[in-house]
Amino acid sequence: MYDLIIKNGKIIDGTGSPYFRADIAVKDGKIAKIARHLDGAKEIIDASGLTVTPGFIDAHSHSDKTIITFPEQREKAEQGITTSVGGQCGTSIAPCSRDTEDKGIYENMGTFIQSAKDNPQGSNTALLIGHGSVRNAVMGTENREPTTEELEKMKQHLRIAMENGAVGMSFGLIYNPGMFAKTDELCELAKVLAEYDGILEAHIRNESNELIRAVSEFITVVKASGVRGIISHHKSCFFENWGKVSHTLRMIDEANEEGFDLYCNVYPYTASHTSLASYIVPKEYHADNGVCRNLRAPDTYKKIKEADLKKRGGDDLSWILVVLCKNHPEVLGKRISEIAEMWGMSHHDAAYKLLIDSENTCNCCFFSMCEEDVETVMKHPRAMIGTDSAVARNATVFHPRLKATFPRVLGEYVRNRKVTTLHEMIRKMTLMPAAVYNLTGKGLLREGMDADICIFDADRIIDKATYQNCNERCEGLSFVIIDGKVAVKDAVFNGTMAGKIFLK
Ligand SMILES: [Zn+2]
Repeated sequence: MYDLIIKNGKIIDGTGSPYFRADIAVKDGKIAKIARHLDGAKEIIDASGLTVTPGFIDAHSHSDKTIITFPEQREKAEQGITTSVGGQCGTSIAPCSRDTEDKGIYENMGTFIQSAKDNPQGSNTALLIGHGSVRNAVMGTENREPTTEELEKMKQHLRIAMENGAVGMSFGLIYNPGMFAKTDELCELAKVLAEYDGILEAHIRNESNELIRAVSEFITVVKASGVRGIISHHKSCFFENWGKVSHTLRMIDEANEEGFDLYCNVYPYTASHTSLASYIVPKEYHADNGVCRNLRAPDTYKKIKEADLKKRGGDDLSWILVVLCKNHPEVLGKRISEIAEMWGMSHHDAAYKLLIDSENTCNCCFFSMCEEDVETVMKHPRAMIGTDSAVARNATVFHPRLKATFPRVLGEYVRNRKVTTLHEMIRKMTLMPAAVYNLTGKGLLREGMDADICIFDADRIIDKATYQNCNERCEGLSFVIIDGKVAVKDAVFNGTMAGKIFLK
């Protein structure tokens, strides 16, 4: 007697092969049998007319940050994600900063994993350790190179993480304090990662004017260490740089032709989402958590503003939409140009006022990419799909990628625009990330694999979430099964906590 049989579906197994018709039987959280006409189960799902695939793998997630606070992770399962790779862009839930007084379970990645590994979650989470978090734990947010002793301590953090089941390390080279690391430091750490066959993922140093140089730096690190490398949310920002991704994807191809192993991931939107300060305050003013202090001093305020006016070629910040701002709820969902008009000041003055008033707690969507580039990256055979999101913001105004990335790729980019075939896209969402991140047991519909399964209507699946209302659920997602248990029906999470931290 099986626990569950999924009958009559079109199976796309994750390998990149087109569909075949068969039933899938599940027992004890594993796929027990795939064959025509299976019978004898406690529960039957009739998948006639529906497509059955491995559960989606969110290749670029920040949901590790909310494992403890929002373990349901409903935003993940409700878009078909059964495993997320968290700890991206240089920041992970552990280790905590050097200056944290009561470190508790966040002392290092080992103490965190040992404490949280059996906690039930709504969806699975694999962990990268963030290089920025490690640097912050060892040397705070100081803008300098590490001493030999500090570098050794950073390596030790990395070893502890890998020995406790992390799948790799991430860089966040535009964020404080990862931005202060030179290439040598990155290479030294990547070499340690290579000893554990860990994956190295990078939010590279620049995604606009210096994009090509930034990709080149990352390829240098990959070549120096021999690790598998992934460029995060690959994109080229601002009109004058659109099209450069064709060049950088060729750089990836060339490195792979030499025998290295490089990938990228992408989300299906033309707006990014991150902290306002990372865009409009130059690097040197971030050191020692100094953004607000520097903005409050008239002379440094002037320098910061002049530098950004020069960089932008003027005062136009109408392409920035505020989605999170401490102390200013009235600005959510508004463009900086609208806020500036409301307050009777220039765009830049309004933006810096937001930073000061919110104590540098202001996140925005930045409309700076073009559709053609998104499609170019998505089409690349080594591109995976990632949400670039944490979970449970309890917000209406937010980047819709939080809730709708995977249905949007399937409905808009595959069905409507025919960017690639459905079975190729399913490979990018399942077996490819499972293989790249060493997620053993995931990403493939085969006997013996984990029973993490998505069932959807390929003719109907579509995103509904928008920047102004990110809570609209997708359509066409019939069932999501995690560890053999139905967790989502018609895009609604039912509270089943069948996931946990994935340990390598
Ligand atoms: Zn990032």
